Amino acid sequence: MIITLDPEAPKSAVDAVIAQAERYQGVTTKLYEFVGSGATVREVHLIGSTRAVPTEPFEALAGVRAVNRVSVKYRLIGRHGKDTQTHAFEHNGVTFGGDQVQIIAGLCAVDTREHVDQMLAALAKEGIRTTRMGAYKPRTSPYDFQGLGKQCLPWVFESCGKHGIKVVAMEVTDARQIEEIDRALQEAGNPTGVMLQIGTRNTQAFELLRSVGQQQQFPVLFKRGMGITLEESLNACEYVASEGNGRIIFCLRGVKTHLGDPHRNLVDFAHVPVVRRQTRLPVCIDPSHSVGRLDAAPDGLTDVFHVVGQGIIAGATAVLVDFHPRPQAALCDGPQALTLDQLPTLVRYADVVQRAYREVRALGETAG
Ligand code: PEP
Ligand code: MN
Repeated sequence: MIITLDPEAPKSAVDAVIAQAERYQGVTTKLYEFVGSGATVREVHLIGSTRAVPTEPFEALAGVRAVNRVSVKYRLIGRHGKDTQTHAFEHNGVTFGGDQVQIIAGLCAVDTREHVDQMLAALAKEGIRTTRMGAYKPRTSPYDFQGLGKQCLPWVFESCGKHGIKVVAMEVTDARQIEEIDRALQEAGNPTGVMLQIGTRNTQAFELLRSVGQQQQFPVLFKRGMGITLEESLNACEYVASEGNGRIIFCLRGVKTHLGDPHRNLVDFAHVPVVRRQTRLPVCIDPSHSVGRLDAAPDGLTDVFHVVGQGIIAGATAVLVDFHPRPQAALCDGPQALTLDQLPTLVRYADVVQRAYREVRALGETAG
């Protein structure tokens, strides 16, 4: 059972809820605070044998906004009752999960300083402050390029500072890399912020999930598993929240099956509204790793663009997308990388669909 407090309720209201809960045998409580971009939401979670605990005594307490029985296992990231809020959060001045769709565009894998700098200069020109830069790459084959690792961090961060980039999404494959990133950021004078990415190959690497969950410094971009159910991915994501880090974006990136051919994966953006309904997390889409190629429809727009539209029109608020100044020279995933001259079009395209989403959202509100 989860008891949600009014944002302005005093501490005494929280204490009263806890005192009430502890009257029931076998019930313990845990207080959670979700720091959003607006108000902080406080919840008292009742843990243990709550089946026989009535809701009415809690509903009668001052400062209580809602009392919900929890039916899903992923209780922290899960959406309960009639709550329609998203757990938006701010990181280094950028809001995720708010009204503005964030385009997290950049190199799948960092290769040269020049490419990083060209990429970030192109983003700055478009007013984009979020990027992706892969330093630690989990590759299917051990003989493929594994990423430059910590050696590239100083100049990636320095270039972010130079171009006003506020948040870099960066995959980690091992907990030690979190410290490497932290140290490199400090040594560079914290010119930017980092969001730790959990890749699809590590969706169920539970110890890694615990590690990213145990720190609060960096938010987490969590990718669904490519070969497991959505439910399993959501339960895995709960590991991060259960360790204390609630600043999470859930990212859809396609699932593995030949039924998605000719795309690299079966695009699963029909799950955007599902994730929004099942959880309170902001939803990101990754059109690059799901489509995996750059062919265009007869209208001249690539499939990558079209699926970006499908994600945003369903309420996704972040787009993680591969670009490269010279895709033919990329050391990882060149065939799916958009070129820098396609960036302004993508920005305009995303803008048009965002406006369309606001209109269709209004239709939803009037439909009740
Ligand atoms: C990536 O975003 O670079 C990546 C490896 O994606 P995924 O984990 O979805 O394959
Ligand atoms: Mn990639």
